[in-house]
Amino acid sequence: MAARPIAGRPHVAGQVLKSGRVTKGKTEGNKVPSDQIEAAITDQVLEPVRAEPPAWAENCQQLCDAIPWFHCTQGAMYHSEGFCWGFLIDADGGTRTCIDEEVIITRIGGCCTKDSEGNLAPQKNQEADSTLARSIIASLKSELPVGSIFGSKHKILNGDLPHRYNIMAWFRVTNVWFERIGTNHGAKVRFEKLDLAENSWWAAKGSAPPMPLELRDFDTKPQSLKCEGCSKESIRVYEDGWMCLQPECDRFWKIGNVSSPPELTFNPAFLSFRSRSDDEIRPNCSLVPDHLSTLDEDATDISTSRGWKCSDDSTGTQTGGNVCSFERLMTMNPISRQVLLDDSEQPSMRREMVFDRKFMIPEIDDVSLSPYRKLTYKLDGVGCITHFVADAEINSRPNGPDDLFIGLQREDLGLNPFPLSILTLLIRMKSKLLNGNTQRVDTGDGKSVSGSALQDNSVLKGCRLEDECRVLKEKCKAGEISQDKYDNSRRTLFATQKGK
Ligand SMILES: [Zn+2]
Repeated sequence: MAARPIAGRPHVAGQVLKSGRVTKGKTEGNKVPSDQIEAAITDQVLEPVRAEPPAWAENCQQLCDAIPWFHCTQGAMYHSEGFCWGFLIDADGGTRTCIDEEVIITRIGGCCTKDSEGNLAPQKNQEADSTLARSIIASLKSELPVGSIFGSKHKILNGDLPHRYNIMAWFRVTNVWFERIGTNHGAKVRFEKLDLAENSWWAAKGSAPPMPLELRDFDTKPQSLKCEGCSKESIRVYEDGWMCLQPECDRFWKIGNVSSPPELTFNPAFLSFRSRSDDEIRPNCSLVPDHLSTLDEDATDISTSRGWKCSDDSTGTQTGGNVCSFERLMTMNPISRQVLLDDSEQPSMRREMVFDRKFMIPEIDDVSLSPYRKLTYKLDGVGCITHFVADAEINSRPNGPDDLFIGLQREDLGLNPFPLSILTLLIRMKSKLLNGNTQRVDTGDGKSVSGSALQDNSVLKGCRLEDECRVLKEKCKAGEISQDKYDNSRRTLFATQKGK
């Protein structure tokens, strides 16, 4: 059976497949500014796609919070426990990239930079035992489905993607091989859509539906030959000729005895072969889990920090600034500080500290500001850094750090999670010296009061503002100024000194 033509796609047999990258001339520093390339790509005329994705996000953080197979805010590949679970197709996929309704051929990321021609190339050789390559090879061998996401910066498809990040479908890894890319070698991967009977939403609008499974040829496979140099088999990826794809072999990336030409055409048989469906190959979770319906609005805790898919298919988080109008208000139950601490960090009457002699050893003062332990690191010619180490007695004082921790969870201070990491929710009250910051704190009887987080804040010896602080404190003690006036004056004092 002849190679199946790829409906609605411009890259048919015999045509050189090029990425959507725009070639730029040489620039200083041997690199092309990425904004120039992106601007040129933006001018590309895009075709409308067939349908909407099953879920989408305009923000990578929301995507990663809601999609369990892509908890990955950086990089294009989510790997965990030695397997690749999810893949993001975005921006530049490198040279010799291909995407159609059922197949994705792209590079495996890591340590790449753009050369003078705007080509993405690895800065060093990418080996089979690198973490990324090992993970994708493990998913290939285990036949583990890999979720894919389309980013709108990727223009190889030439499709007008409706959102910044678009969930595609489950794919299986069919091939991983190595190619010469620039002066180094890097890994490439071929993904194939798991459900070949399903319409792909990213196919061109008006394109033909997928060929019925019963009419497909699952037996024809691309040519694979054993290398005379290394005795290992390599598949024929390019029409131009068979090459050994083992980077350690002398015949690597050569057609006969000649290095491969700069422009290569994909082997049609390599693009068109399909794997027979297998009910045993199943993902271990839904492509888009329905987390929203499982939420208990009256018993919410830190687990609600996970994202979810909204009713309009966008993904979001409770405080993620989602673009859709979906809203659900939940009662957050404050979590105990103990939930966040390791056994080794249970509050102790005094924290023992071991200092590594490779680094600076501070002066230790357990007397002058007891119960604080005062550690002073003297930096020659710069000044000093003072660390006031709190203990259980300090943390548990009324309106102290423990109360503040609970208060922070009950009061809306307009705080949002830091967009790069959900870990910002895990506030650790290890050692804090609060300079009279007022905070509304729940008293436990349903009322809340405004008070100083540490009303007995100390005047720090050696502080540049020691004298001024002492004067203010004496006035407050004598009743000459109110607590609010005292707190405001201290804040103003420190604020006006910051720039000096
Ligand atoms: Zn070889």
